Amino acid sequence: MLQDLRLVTNKVNQHLREESNNATRAKKEMFNLKQMCPVDSLRDYAARLYPICRSITGNGFLSSLNILEEIMPMERHQFDTGEDVLDWTIPNEWNIRDAYIITPDGNKIANFKESNLHIVGYSEPVDKDVSFEDLLEHLHTLPSMPDAVPYVTSYYRRNWGFCISQKQLDSLKPGTYHVTIDSDLEPGKLTIAECVLPGETDSEILLSSYLCHPSMGNHELGGSISLIFLYKILKATGPHRNTFRFLICPENIGSAAFLSLYGEHLKNKLVGGYVVNCVGHGEEFTYKKSRQGNSQTDLAAQNVLQRRSRPYFEVDFYPDGSDERQFCSPGYNFPIGLVMRTMYGKFPEYHTSLDDLAFLNVEILQESILTYFEILKSLDINFRPLGRVQHGTPQLSKSQIPLYRDSMNFRIQEKEERTRVLLEILNCADGEQTLLEIAQQKNFLLLDYSDLVQDLLDCNYLSIAEGDSE
Ligand SMILES: [Zn+2]
Repeated sequence: MLQDLRLVTNKVNQHLREESNNATRAKKEMFNLKQMCPVDSLRDYAARLYPICRSITGNGFLSSLNILEEIMPMERHQFDTGEDVLDWTIPNEWNIRDAYIITPDGNKIANFKESNLHIVGYSEPVDKDVSFEDLLEHLHTLPSMPDAVPYVTSYYRRNWGFCISQKQLDSLKPGTYHVTIDSDLEPGKLTIAECVLPGETDSEILLSSYLCHPSMGNHELGGSISLIFLYKILKATGPHRNTFRFLICPENIGSAAFLSLYGEHLKNKLVGGYVVNCVGHGEEFTYKKSRQGNSQTDLAAQNVLQRRSRPYFEVDFYPDGSDERQFCSPGYNFPIGLVMRTMYGKFPEYHTSLDDLAFLNVEILQESILTYFEILKSLDINFRPLGRVQHGTPQLSKSQIPLYRDSMNFRIQEKEERTRVLLEILNCADGEQTLLEIAQQKNFLLLDYSDLVQDLLDCNYLSIAEGDSE
């Protein structure tokens, strides 16, 4: 009797050691992952990309891609001005060298070389005297935020204009002003860039972000910087079950161009994915669901975010915002969601000069990248399990791999959480539900049990149900 008890105690101790080893390993893994996206590197990339004047076409977009390619190699696809991509037509290419206004006193204001936000994106070339009244027609300010310079574009309607702070506008006097915009607005190309990280299967997980805003931090650089570091981490920790496809494109028209190439392919191959946007400012996470609302993409995000110690917000899909507008259009209805911090439109600095380099918090950005990694991993290990034993329960003591680690007397030791999850997964493995659906119903973090799922596959208690996309 005493011997039995000692045996049990030893087993319990051994188990506790294993558990603490697991915890140490998890901590170590997280440390290693952090090492792969150090805040200094994030800050460095942001600082180099920030001054570049980007737009949906032009040299700024291309030179930004060159910098991002130092970490993630990409294939570029070009579309000619006038070409139709879905319902959109590729506009002229825009490049700008200089722009400013000379006041009646001879002062240079709205100087493009001081801030590229001073110019309305896609401004046509001008070089002329204008009256103060005429100039006002072409000046944009934000009266509610008198110190901020707004971000304005006119991609699809030929125009020109400048953006200044309300404070500066209030200081201007009537008189003759001279406006200079040294730009080209001519037929050219629109470019999108993608990278494929092959997995064990050709089922795909898509990660996309946009590149088209001039000097803005959070709502521009956070997304593409996250993508290249996620590529680095996924590559180092792979191969994964799914193939990962990364897309960096000008917002909206770029994802339409991408879908004109890959839309039909993705209808057959896409498991799920996310648009990475607004990930570098704000403590709380926000999850914007896919149009489907209950897709595996949504469950993966919920499974991770709901088990964090702090609250997070969930937003139903609505057809405005970023590239989810294209991916979640009715003809595609792809399972694409957005894991954000403070979401677009919900912070006053959005689309203004106040969303600057300092506004992009690299610690927050690093946490977003690591959270995305957990969510992507959850989606990657997800499948529809089918239990080998459907009638009665399996006799797990027959297993070569020690699955059922508890002692049989649950009065001595409470059933551990691992055993509970093991029994729940086996009981739910009817080939109908996915692991993420089971994890959400039975309240566990799927990632914590990826080893257990692998054990169950290895000893043939589970298989991947036929007809699953895996
Ligand atoms: Zn924007």
